Amino acid sequence: MSWFDTTVHLVYLACATCFVVGLHLMNAPATARRGNRVSAAGMAVAVLVTVAVLIHDRETTAWGAIALAAGSVIGAVAGLVAARRVLMTAMPQLVSLFNAVGGGAAALIALGDALAHTGELGTLPVVTTLTTVLDLAIGGVTLSGSLIAAGKLAGVIPGRPLAVPRWINLVLGAVAVVLATLFVAGHGGIAALAVIAVAALAAGVLLTLPIGGADMPVVISLLNAFTGTAVAMAGFILDSSALIIAGGLVGAAGAILTKLMADAMNRSIGAILAGGYGTGDNGAIAVGAGGATRSITAEDAALQLAYANKVVIVPGYGLAAAQAQHEMVALARALTERGVSVQYGIHPVAGRMPGHMNVLLAEADAPYEQLKDLEEINPDFPATDVALVVGANDVTNPAARRPGNAVSGMPILDVDRARSVIVIKRSMGQGYAGIENELYSLPSTAMLFTDAKAGLAALLAGVREFAS
Ligand code: NDP
Repeated sequence: MSWFDTTVHLVYLACATCFVVGLHLMNAPATARRGNRVSAAGMAVAVLVTVAVLIHDRETTAWGAIALAAGSVIGAVAGLVAARRVLMTAMPQLVSLFNAVGGGAAALIALGDALAHTGELGTLPVVTTLTTVLDLAIGGVTLSGSLIAAGKLAGVIPGRPLAVPRWINLVLGAVAVVLATLFVAGHGGIAALAVIAVAALAAGVLLTLPIGGADMPVVISLLNAFTGTAVAMAGFILDSSALIIAGGLVGAAGAILTKLMADAMNRSIGAILAGGYGTGDNGAIAVGAGGATRSITAEDAALQLAYANKVVIVPGYGLAAAQAQHEMVALARALTERGVSVQYGIHPVAGRMPGHMNVLLAEADAPYEQLKDLEEINPDFPATDVALVVGANDVTNPAARRPGNAVSGMPILDVDRARSVIVIKRSMGQGYAGIENELYSLPSTAMLFTDAKAGLAALLAGVREFAS
């Protein structure tokens, strides 16, 4: 091995170490930003080294080098602008789009490599042909599946489950497996790969369309795991250790997150992919939903909060949409100073991306010991004077305890078991799952119809008045 190759391998190893250290630093909100920077620096160096390798090994023509430079600049600028401009509420669909780009790039690597070796496809070793078909199939499913997921999150495609006959997926899967086996055995060539690519793209669309409501977080994590796996396969094709390690880390982290989300949602991953959840008859939730609601003024709500012994605040997507986390934490602080016991009940899928509420609360410096997850907080609700629901809907919907609707089986925050409930939201609008919430018509529930930021500011002003 030449000194150049040795140096390249050592630098790739250093980059991979940056990814691992960065991932570790992301474990805690205090170090997460540093973790992001360390990982990004590792990736930037890996890209530069790859360019240096291509030039050194003369593997690219002058036009190739121009295309490479143009691609890197366009990609870097697009990523930078998108990440800087994106609203916090549009972050989930941006993450899905990045997933799609990762899967698509990995699939293109497989196709490009196969096209470069068209004449020798029948003689390549099994390890090469196998990684090529796996890269193409997983990358293709990820590309189209993530685009559909991004469309659903952005509201461009209906978020509710869209039924697709299961036999179509079975046929697509069978075609892909037969052609992949032929290709690995040295037959079929580019034509087989082209059909596998089309089948994978179709499968991504058809697998994601029937998934909606409470199952979306699991699917997003799963597509993330797919991206990592496809990228690792691309690393094998290109013989790039940095790509293999980066893809392996994303694949493993995504797989663990998928399992955690599925467990937290009381779902089985296999059943979600088979379209077994979230497709129920939503008419079945009608018990109590749509009944009369009781409104409350900000002054009365502030009075109730100020004289409570125990308050549990339940944030949801509306908090993120209103960017009201600072007002919420300021209100909690004012109540704590009055001697009220305050805790936050965090649902694992509240918001639109895994950990969404934790990110917002960390940004607003909410005391860590006040954050309680679902299992911890639920036994406390019967002894809670006021459950203050801020822009949360589906994660509090008692309909989840009954079968036959889009949130059935999903564990919820038991706010309906608190002595009283105050809900801040702008209207009777539905949540992501698109169903009514019967919590709103319970006698113990009062609705404060306003934007979360304005509502929390009014509550804070009211509570402060009682202190003076
Ligand atoms: P929901 O989407 O169920 O409800 C949010 C509520 O916030 C709406 O009913 C809306 O009512 C209200 N709202 C919106 N804007 C504002 C505002 N400015 N001020 C006050 N209220 C506002 O949120 P949840 O957090 O309860 O549930 C999350 C849902 O998203 C679940 O179904 C989950 O499965 C799904 N999901 C979660 C993902 C994740 O990874 N966490 C990913 C994809 C989907 P109104 O319009 O009346 O104000």
